[in-house]
Amino acid sequence: MSYTGTKVEIDIERIPNCLENPAWPLLIAGPCSAESEEQLIDTALKLKATKRISIFRAGIWKPRTRPNSFEGIGVKGLPWMQTVKKETGLRTATEVANAEHVELALKYGVDMLWIGARTSANPFSVQEIADALKGTDVMVLIKNPVNPDTELWIGALERISKAGIRKLGAIHRGFSSHEKGVFRNSPMWSIPIELKAACPHLPIICDPSHICGNTELIPFISQKALDMDVDGLMTEVHNNPSCAWSDAKQQLTPEQYGTLIYGLLLRSSAPMKGETQTALSQLRAEIDLLDDEIIQKLSMRMKISAKIGKYKKENSMTILQMDRWNNILDNRLNMGKAMGISEDFMKKYLDLIHQESINIQSFVMNKSGE
Ligand code: PEP
Ligand code: MN
Repeated sequence: MSYTGTKVEIDIERIPNCLENPAWPLLIAGPCSAESEEQLIDTALKLKATKRISIFRAGIWKPRTRPNSFEGIGVKGLPWMQTVKKETGLRTATEVANAEHVELALKYGVDMLWIGARTSANPFSVQEIADALKGTDVMVLIKNPVNPDTELWIGALERISKAGIRKLGAIHRGFSSHEKGVFRNSPMWSIPIELKAACPHLPIICDPSHICGNTELIPFISQKALDMDVDGLMTEVHNNPSCAWSDAKQQLTPEQYGTLIYGLLLRSSAPMKGETQTALSQLRAEIDLLDDEIIQKLSMRMKISAKIGKYKKENSMTILQMDRWNNILDNRLNMGKAMGISEDFMKKYLDLIHQESINIQSFVMNKSGE
């Protein structure tokens, strides 16, 4: 992916990780929100015990899409962050959305500030934060704006860089879209890749929690992010996720987080020896990307099958509609043929998909209470 926009000049200083090893990703972890001093300290001590995390995160002010949900504990939580730092030696991070947040977070010794996805989409807010940061050397990470706009993301990074911040990085947390797919926020990998092309030395951290919106997909997205050569991961971890006051579905327990990080494969981004191996690894990366997309699309297809099952149930229709199926077969077989896929393979593939779709519909139709 190349970048065709205006050249980006940003002065960067590396953010050290807990192992003092540039090959090790910068791991940031902690709860979505600070809820109580006990919750923060318990979670932080368990994370510290993994010996791998560099920075403890917790949201003090929460930008919520809809009002009447928990909007953060506020300034009361800042002394708790100080206690975490004292008890664990971990550096701390929180989200800031305006100048007052910056002043308060700095007053209480928070080491890293991040600008959230809703704030980075607004140049007025980013400029206000940049002005409040002048003369400090705090670490700052900027989440991608909610909409997939690389220039807007770069603009926010430039504003903060111009304020003199050098320990600067970006967080890829996915992009919201009207179409509800498998992910809470679609990863759209081409956008962070474009950012990397525009600004090769800028560290990019992936936030698998807000991309996935659930815990099941987090290991896949974390590994994928590392395979895409990101510099770190910011993950939501809570000592009791099912009782979390925000984002309960996507937070890992400290134990699950330990399993996750010790299971990650660190691959070298340096080119391999010999042309053939480099070509092979590139081809494999392309296959990995395509498989990813195929699995996502399959999952979306199965979800639609379930909706069709519900519709057929409500309208007392049979599951099997032979005309429709014959149409699908004809159309897809011809399309596959035109695209050079063998008829035998297409038939087997369509049969499998059809069978699974029937299973899902019959499950939905026979479920009681719906
Ligand atoms: C968060 O990190 O808790 C958060 C609110 O994230 P985002 O800005 O990515 O939605
Ligand atoms: Mn969250």
